[in-house]
Order: sequence, then C-alpha cells, then structure tokens
Amino acid sequence: MDDGEQAADGPPVISMRRGRRSGLARGVPRPSSAREGRVGSVALVGAGPGDPELLTVRATKVIAGADALVHDRLVAPPILALAPRAARIYVGKARSCHAMPQDAINALLVRLAREGKRVVRLKGGDPFIFGRGGEEIEALAANGIPFEVVPGISAANGVAASAGIPLTHRDHAQTCLFVTGHLKDGTMDLDWPALARPRQTVVVYMGLLGLPVLCDELIRHGMPRSTPAAVVSQGTTPRQRVVTGTIETLPIDATAAELESPTLIIIGDVVKVRERLGDYVATGPAAAVLPFPRPARSVTAEPSAEGVMAKP
Ligand code: SAH
Repeated sequence: MDDGEQAADGPPVISMRRGRRSGLARGVPRPSSAREGRVGSVALVGAGPGDPELLTVRATKVIAGADALVHDRLVAPPILALAPRAARIYVGKARSCHAMPQDAINALLVRLAREGKRVVRLKGGDPFIFGRGGEEIEALAANGIPFEVVPGISAANGVAASAGIPLTHRDHAQTCLFVTGHLKDGTMDLDWPALARPRQTVVVYMGLLGLPVLCDELIRHGMPRSTPAAVVSQGTTPRQRVVTGTIETLPIDATAAELESPTLIIIGDVVKVRERLGDYVATGPAAAVLPFPRPARSVTAEPSAEGVMAKP
C-alpha cells in the first residue's frame, strides 16, 4: 500500500502520490518502531469553514484512515468523529493564546510520522490560506516525510456562499483580495492604497478586533465612507450571524452585536447583493438544503441570448 489510495479490505491509507513519494522519501532513515518498518505520512487536510457537510470527499476518506489527528480549534466535532479510533492531539490556537508553538507542531508531525503513523493534520478552512500549511510542508519535506495536501473550502468562499455575498460580480468587483487583519502593536501591516481601490472585494480574516483600525485606514486612503461591508460570525453553521453596514458604521454596529468568533469581514459593493436577495438569502446549512429539491430528471445547460438556460 504505497500509493495512498483505498485498500481493498481496509481504510484509506494516507501517503504521497506516486512520483512525489520517491522524491521526498529519499534519504529517510528507517525507524525501527515504524509500521511495517517504514516511515508513515502526513496529510494536511482542510476541514472547511464550519459546516461538516462542506468537507471534501477526499478529506473524508483521508480522515477515516488516520492513526493520529492533529487538529485546531476551528475543526467541528462531527469532523473529528469521522476518525473514532485515531489518537486526537489538540494543538489549537485561540486569539493571542497559542496552545503549541508552530515549531513544536512541526516537530510533532515529524515524530508521529517517524513512528510509522498515518497522521492527519486537520485545519479549519484551507490549509494554505492563513493556515501555516506552507511552513508545515516545508518542515515535512526537510525531514523526508511523505505528505499530501487536501484542500478545503476556505472561510472566504464558504462564508460568502452562506451569507449570499458573491465575492466577484460583473457589475461590482473584478478582483478579490484575501488579507489578514491581525493587529500587531495596534496596527495592521497592509498595502492600504491597494485595498482602497474601487471595483474589488476585500475579505479580511482575523479582523474583528482591528475593525475600527481597518475601516479608518481604508477611509484615509480614499475608500468612500459609504462602501458596503459585512461581518459574518460563525459562518456556515446554524449559529451564523451577519451584520451589514458601511465601512463608516460597521465598527460600531459589530461591537453592539457582540459577535462570537470566528468572524470574517467582507468589504465592497458585492455586499449590496445580499440586501437585494431579501428573503432568499441562504442562512446556513439547513437553508442551503431546503430550497433545492432534486430534479426528477437530469437537465443540460445550453447557452442562449439571455445566458445559460437549463433545458430538460
Ligand atoms: N485556513 C482558514 C483560515 C484560518 S485563520 C481558512 O482557509 O478559512 C482563522 C480565521 O478564519 C478566523 O479568525 C476567521 O476570520 C476566519 N474564519 C474561519 N472560519 C470561519 C467561520 N466559520 N465564519 C467566519 N469566519 C471564519
């Protein structure tokens, strides 16, 4: 079972895909305690933004085959439950409270893999978007540990979908930027002139504490005060809440709403689309499922003068 796919009579095995494996595994000392005398592997898996149904099929398989789950705070319990027999190791980080430093997490992944384990490193959203996945795979590669990365739905696209805010839109935004609003010494190290440009959407991760600084700086760099903006709390879950306003009003309204983390900020004219949807706004998993009954027969899409039309 070297190729990382489904065993005929057992759970899926996580490992490098063919080709990449030989490259990275070269020079790895064989640990004496390893399963079948060889090094294990690490899969960095994106757990999505909250709703467990937003997990990918690949992620579900890989999690089910794990010997050890190394996970963050933002991973939903039903996702952890997909691996009932795996050892669970919490290395999560709450705001300004690091349960385990990144170097120690990297070392832990290497150690578990050297013990021959199939390790799943579960991360909220996507491992490569503000998830430090890049640092972890560099450490794995440097230590000759086979790895794979399973992408996840990031907070930006998951939350935007369940809040009814398209991230791009032909009438409103041709560009979409993802930035971190993490405060350092009371400021944010961001390219303000680039963020304040028109016809784009700015998505801010980890930005609630810094929201007043963010909005002030955008206004100072020329973004109109009337620019629509939203904060979405616990997006894609049944506890999702959305506060909308403008970059002038949002800091006060978001504070008054006492939103719970995690929260995502979306700034740009696309936020108006949500307001135009009225009662049709999808608000979380249940709402997303109800309006779409399965079609009785399949349909094909054909372009027409008005755009793509579904035809029976
Ligand atoms: N790798 C993750 C992001 C990690 S940073 C991803 O791709 O989504 C953590 C930040 O993501 C949070 O502070 C918050 O800004 C955002 N976030 C994650 N899940 C969220 C959710 N369900 N609702 C709103 N924001 C969320």
